[in-house]
Amino acid sequence: MDSQAARSITIVGGGTAGWMCAAALAHFVGENTRITLVESDAIGTIGVGEATIPQIRMFNQTLGIDETDFIRATGATFKLGIEFAGWLRPGHSYLHAFGDVGRDIGLGGFRHFWSRAHRLGLARPLGDYSVNDLAARAGKMHDGAPLTNRNVPAVPHAFHFDAGLYAAYLRRYAQKHGVVRQEGTIVSVARDGQSGDVTTLTLSDGRVVAGDLFIDCSGLRALLIQDTLGVGFDDWSHLLPANSAVAVPSERTAPLTPYTRATAHAVGWQWRIPLQHRTGNGRVYCSAFISDDEAAAGLLANLDGAPLADPRVIRFATGRTRQAWSHNVIAMGLASGFLEPLESTSIHLIQSMIARIMAFGPTCRPAPAVRATFNRQFADEMERIRDFIVLHYWANEREEPFWQACRSMALPDSLAEKIELFRSAGHLFRDQSDLFSEVGWLQVLVGQGIVPATSHALAEAVSESDLAAWLDTLHTLYAREVAAWPTHADYIARHCAAPSPQGLVA
Ligand SMILES: Cc1cc2nc3c(=O)[nH]c(=O)nc-3n(C[C@H](O)[C@H](O)[C@H](O)COP(=O)(O)OP(=O)(O)OC[C@H]3O[C@@H](n4cnc5c(N)ncnc54)[C@H](O)[C@@H]3O)c2cc1C
Repeated sequence: MDSQAARSITIVGGGTAGWMCAAALAHFVGENTRITLVESDAIGTIGVGEATIPQIRMFNQTLGIDETDFIRATGATFKLGIEFAGWLRPGHSYLHAFGDVGRDIGLGGFRHFWSRAHRLGLARPLGDYSVNDLAARAGKMHDGAPLTNRNVPAVPHAFHFDAGLYAAYLRRYAQKHGVVRQEGTIVSVARDGQSGDVTTLTLSDGRVVAGDLFIDCSGLRALLIQDTLGVGFDDWSHLLPANSAVAVPSERTAPLTPYTRATAHAVGWQWRIPLQHRTGNGRVYCSAFISDDEAAAGLLANLDGAPLADPRVIRFATGRTRQAWSHNVIAMGLASGFLEPLESTSIHLIQSMIARIMAFGPTCRPAPAVRATFNRQFADEMERIRDFIVLHYWANEREEPFWQACRSMALPDSLAEKIELFRSAGHLFRDQSDLFSEVGWLQVLVGQGIVPATSHALAEAVSESDLAAWLDTLHTLYAREVAAWPTHADYIARHCAAPSPQGLVA
């Protein structure tokens, strides 16, 4: 056997992580690698994780998945951003919309011009200069026709989809491309006496599954990376205080909003994810501040459609595995850690881990520097996203004890510096490992009440009247563009409607 390339890869777990990984590996290395996936029907999957960010389109496209087919099969809707309602204070709302906000002028970022105009009382809310934000609030979806004006920026979108249906869709894809599925519960894991590498998994009925490389997609159980290898976990509960969620689906209601809604409540927040055949809802909270029963009651009292099941409580720990790759095991999905659902980053992190595996090539005996670099990249990526999410919690003006506690937390240095840079004069610089662009940070910083204290010299050079006229033109241009689009519901009905709920195949 080649001393590096893994000829046989065994994936543990058949949730979103397991099947995304299986489908991608089958696509990229399936020709000369045996890929096996073990999943347990008795244990099941976490059954949440239905909001994504635009990068998911790249994943599907790489696999040659037809977007319309995927939308129909998973009951998906379009997502143009996330609304944060009540995060700064009750009654306040803003969107973190995908895509550009405004336009830069030469070397001057739009944020500098907007913040000067804001201070002078000449600017509209930031979201009024984002096509995605305007479209989301109007319930519109771009129909793919050429934009009427070349000055209107692109309209990136992501999806809301049914997690179970997406995993089933990828399972069909992966099995068609040669992945072997073994259903059963793993009861023991054997390791090589010398190297410590994992050698085989034994299922409850005695079957034994071997592999050169093991991908741990076993969810919050982290069967291989923690239970077997014990690499340790960095707990971030002092920064990300939520440790529980209660989830329930409800009947679809109108209008079909093209965005996720995250509404802050006294001890956390509630998500609303519209799908074609139902709405996904859940409350995220800290169990030290509220009981599960109270959280479930609060959730049920705030649905906009009739519940379709009983609320289900999920307990989690926020943080990350100390090593994503140890011995011949790579952890992915919830087995590698969890931040919190707020910015819909977990499915992206799966995709990113798959890309990292492919960048290094699926190998089972890497040089130490390879594994160290892999682990550092993972850690950096998680930490930047963590900072972004922490910002939403920390920068609040709410009165409740939970929010006061969030406000008094000690920030990581990396985040404190980022806030100080922006607050001083609108400076924002994207680190290489940062998933979120300057525009993403801008929307959340401003949305959470942080604005620059002084203007950039380039913005100072523009007269007040020119600034006001230019901002007005931009807004009018974007609003006129959006007004011409169909509603989100009409667009779906015309182009990519899923079959009736009974026709959706899990
Ligand atoms: C409350 C909540 C909301 C979320 N919302 C979002 C969101 O909106 N967007 C987003 O991107 N992410 C979200 N996530 C994260 C997202 O749900 C996960 O990243 C995604 O579902 C992947 O999960 P997984 O495949 O790692 O784990 P799971 O779905 O739990 O799958 C684990 C698999 O391992 C198998 N398994 C475990 N133990 C064994 C064993 N002993 N033998 C055999 N098989 C075993 C299970 O049967 C299962 O197949 C959310 C998470 C939570 C907790």
